[in-house]
Amino acid sequence: MRIVRTVRDAREATRDSRRPWGFVPTMGALHAGHLQLAARAREENSAVAASIFVNPLQFGPNEDFARYPRAFAEDCAKFEAAGVDLLFAPDVDQMYPDGFATFVDPGPVGDVFEGALRPGHFRGVATVCTKLFDVIGAERVYFGAKDAQQVAVLRRVIADLSLPVELRVVPTVREDDGLALSSRNVYLNAEERAAAPALYAALSFLAEAVRSGRRDRAAMLAESRTRLVAPLREAYLDLVDPLTFRSAADLAKASLAIGSVWAGTTRLIDNVPISAAAERAA
Ligand code: AMP
Repeated sequence: MRIVRTVRDAREATRDSRRPWGFVPTMGALHAGHLQLAARAREENSAVAASIFVNPLQFGPNEDFARYPRAFAEDCAKFEAAGVDLLFAPDVDQMYPDGFATFVDPGPVGDVFEGALRPGHFRGVATVCTKLFDVIGAERVYFGAKDAQQVAVLRRVIADLSLPVELRVVPTVREDDGLALSSRNVYLNAEERAAAPALYAALSFLAEAVRSGRRDRAAMLAESRTRLVAPLREAYLDLVDPLTFRSAADLAKASLAIGSVWAGTTRLIDNVPISAAAERAA
């Protein structure tokens, strides 16, 4: 695996004859979820690039940018073992030169739920991904279904800016008890960790209720909420259209049960697709 640190080297490294390239952008602190994306990219492409970049633009002023877990040496070994050919690991000044002032704003899909709780987050995600897609020049990019709103935002950006990439979504990798793998799970104390799978349980209940034919949205949400036991505190819980993240008008068709809880100072997110159509869209 070749490791490059500059935009210029990354551009040169992917301009070889092996095509197509698959690309897996990450913030590092790799777990089995990230490696699943790399495995899919490996299966489906002639060459695989990944990136590790903790993007300051997508963190709010009171968020965990400074303490976000970093494990570069271990991450390199994991990506290498997963068959990654090229790792782009830029410093902040490579991505954001002095005087940086140009942003990609994804519009309304980036303003609700995660976007409402983290103002500017999706502008940061959309901006960095647009830059990374351009630098790497891969035909296919791989993202996790766990971050479903991020997928919705990037679908919008790719379509609106006519970016020459195909976005492929990889199902969420979970612990045995249902908790979605996340680099932030290391922040949980024992009590929070023990309660955390309740988020997936609540979302699974909601998805199953809709699948079984129920349409009493408010009652289903209320019943689902009762599963979010202390010390978890709800941030949001809803049924949405996976493309727009607006409230799903037709619950059966293609909706997604989404939720987020606070566990101490850590916020967890997860989602469960109601139908195969929702799974494809997410
Ligand atoms: P991050 O490093 O948190 O920015 O995540 C990088 C990529 O890994 C994103 O596309 C995430 O959606 C994806 N990802 C994170 N957790 C999981 C998981 N548990 N299963 C599948 N993909 C994941």
